[in-house]
Amino acid sequence: IKHGSGNQYRACIRDSNQKDGEALFLQENMIREALTMRWFTLYLQPIYLANSPNLDAPELLGAEVLIRLEHPELGLIPPNDFIPAAEKTGQIIEIGNWVLEEAAVILCEWQKQGFSTRYLSVNASVVQFRDHGLLHQLESLLERYPINPTKLVIEVTENLMLDNEESLRYQLKEIRKLGVNLSLDDFGTGFSCLSYLHELPFGTLKIDRSFVMNVETNPRDKKLARVIVDMASSLGMQIVVEGIEQRGQAEIFQAMGVRAFQGYHFARPMPQKVFEARFSPAADTRLSQLRSQKG
Ligand code: C2E
Ligand code: MG
Ligand code: MG
Ligand code: MG
Repeated sequence: IKHGSGNQYRACIRDSNQKDGEALFLQENMIREALTMRWFTLYLQPIYLANSPNLDAPELLGAEVLIRLEHPELGLIPPNDFIPAAEKTGQIIEIGNWVLEEAAVILCEWQKQGFSTRYLSVNASVVQFRDHGLLHQLESLLERYPINPTKLVIEVTENLMLDNEESLRYQLKEIRKLGVNLSLDDFGTGFSCLSYLHELPFGTLKIDRSFVMNVETNPRDKKLARVIVDMASSLGMQIVVEGIEQRGQAEIFQAMGVRAFQGYHFARPMPQKVFEARFSPAADTRLSQLRSQKG
């Protein structure tokens, strides 16, 4: 078996020409090693409910699970550098199942700690829908863990909806029947075919960062954002705006009626352990004491 050294791997992801069989081969080996050696690790990024007009003391709604590969030589490798390869080789199925297991454990823990309203959002790739794999995996998960299924959210990207085939629609509906919630990720980056929105069981729509970046300066982006928000609201969907880096961006969306935010302005993705320490029951008590002292 040909193994890629760290440097070879680094070089191959840099000029990652997806047609390059050799690069894919190196990535495949790297991913296999990472699975065996347990180099994958989860970061959590808070999703907040900002109710006050000044965006102060936003309340934690939940978190999105974001995977990283913690390589002993290369350091932290972001998902965009290995998920596409894992989708090509099919390894995303094993990775995705691992992520779901970990997510179930986290949710169990939260429920034990009394955080019964907190939700956990997990990204799923289109490959995981093959042969009804994701549906079966979720069924199995709910049998094995005593979690409230409504607190598990599966995010699928808008682009996935392009192959709007029967099997995919079927699975989305079945997943929803399990009680698991569905979120349409990266909305606005694909073809935004609005017709499927009301047919498919998505409870949440995540507005992509690309709309947020220039919302303060580009009137056209702001108009488009408003159209998306109005449309999603009229369909009864929840809206989460992702990629909020500036307070002003959040204020604009807040004026449109959006309340749920995710982005560096509020909090960056953080290692699971850091998240747990920051949002533990003890930290929660301290926070509410602080709040009541203030108010
Ligand atoms: P995504 O699902 O759209 O996740 C949001 C991405 O935006 C994350 O990048 C997050 O770190 C980043 N982000 C959040 N707030 C901000 C902000 O204010 N500014 C900027 N510049 N970025 C922000 P990340 O963690 O690198 O993940 C990239 C993508 O990788 C994700 O996009 C998702 O599509 C994919 N991904 C991550 N974890 C998994 C996984 O477990 N399974 C699968 N299939 N895909 C995953
Ligand atoms: Mg996502
Ligand atoms: Mg997204
Ligand atoms: Mg994305």
